[in-house]
Amino acid sequence: PDAPRGICGANADTIVTRNFLRAVASGSGCYIHVVENTALNLKNTALEKRDIKGLNALDRICKLFGITETDVSKKAVLAADAVLADLYKPDYEKMELVKKLAYPPRYKRWEELGIVPGGAKSEIVRGVVKCSTNLNSDPVDMLVDCLRLGISTGIYGLTLTNLLNDVLLGEPEIRPAPVGLRVINPDYINIMITGHQHSMFVDLQERLVSPEAIAIAESVGAKGFKLVGCTCVGQDLQLRGAHYTEIFDGHAGNNYTSEAILSTGAIDAVVSEFNCTLPGIEPICDELKIKQICIDSVAKKANAELKPFVFAQREQQSIDIINEVAAAYKARRSTVPLNLLPEHGNDNSLTGVSEVSLKKFLGGSWKPLIDLIASGQIKGIVGVVGCSSLVSGGHDVLTVALTKELIKRDILVLTAGCSSGGIENCGLMTPAAADLAGPKLSAVCKQLG
Ligand code: SF4
Repeated sequence: PDAPRGICGANADTIVTRNFLRAVASGSGCYIHVVENTALNLKNTALEKRDIKGLNALDRICKLFGITETDVSKKAVLAADAVLADLYKPDYEKMELVKKLAYPPRYKRWEELGIVPGGAKSEIVRGVVKCSTNLNSDPVDMLVDCLRLGISTGIYGLTLTNLLNDVLLGEPEIRPAPVGLRVINPDYINIMITGHQHSMFVDLQERLVSPEAIAIAESVGAKGFKLVGCTCVGQDLQLRGAHYTEIFDGHAGNNYTSEAILSTGAIDAVVSEFNCTLPGIEPICDELKIKQICIDSVAKKANAELKPFVFAQREQQSIDIINEVAAAYKARRSTVPLNLLPEHGNDNSLTGVSEVSLKKFLGGSWKPLIDLIASGQIKGIVGVVGCSSLVSGGHDVLTVALTKELIKRDILVLTAGCSSGGIENCGLMTPAAADLAGPKLSAVCKQLG
């Protein structure tokens, strides 16, 4: 900059840290919103005594939380309430589940540093307030807020969202699954889903395979309805796909792949509820007459119909969506050319890996994996996780190249989020990828089949 300070006197450290905290508070707000809705959906499902798929996951969560109730529905309500109670605490009251979920030595250190977070939503508000005009100018103080927000986002927004989804939607099971643009079947009415809030789709995905919905599809010339996965919610549906084989065709791709998925012409609607529903898909949807429906206003797209998900009205909302999407199919399919790419992706990407499913696969103990690392057969494990981006060479270029380099050096890669969407579409999660690994890791993979 030309001047050492801004016009208010803030120096570069203050300005940069303030912008950073603003981004961290906003990001924390996103994933606390997701866990809040997930907990509410679990609670409402349990109150209506509807199907809860992950009974073992519920038992594990109750053990963690110290819930001794035996009735399934009551247990689920208590678990959801425990999460919600923490989220809604003021910032001067510490969240109680942090201690139960965090690694104990790390929790001790957090206590010593005074960074155990208060109520997650209040912490976000405090962070946002600090970023406004001429409030906080202490970079260290603002960075400490970032640490606190990181803890609440990690434990609640990520870990607990997954654990609650395991309870409500069913636990991941290790299996091979198709990925890439090949999963799109033009004989069906295809709905591309984008977002992060799988629990909002429960009623819709059940109703889409009902005889009534199939009759509606047939009346407009299709065989039925299919969900096509895109972004994190597609990845999550794929993870739990063993429970949804009838409705879910597979994960087509990550955030930036959404434009290509729509360009096949075989997607009739986008139902979105969160990021990453790219603004860039809007002109494509307009051009290809693809119906856009948004079920959470936080991610409202300019040209989407807003239909906020209301648990008590979910059945009618699902029926309305089915009728509107069928109407879109009827209006567009005979006028829009198909550009399918059936050779894109593969049919056997490994999915369904969770802490529980992996340990089960290893025979109920981590020892076989630890032994492989200790003996040098596997040099270590690296996480390549999170969003994909367009920097460093283009879409997925960095993450795919990095993964290839790591496995070549006998390092096992654990991946999640949109990074994995690219890595799997490029074939690095298929059994054939063993040939790209170093000799030791390759031998382990081949031994495991
Ligand atoms: S992993 Fe990142 S890019 Fe992908 S949907 Fe989630 S937030 Fe968006």
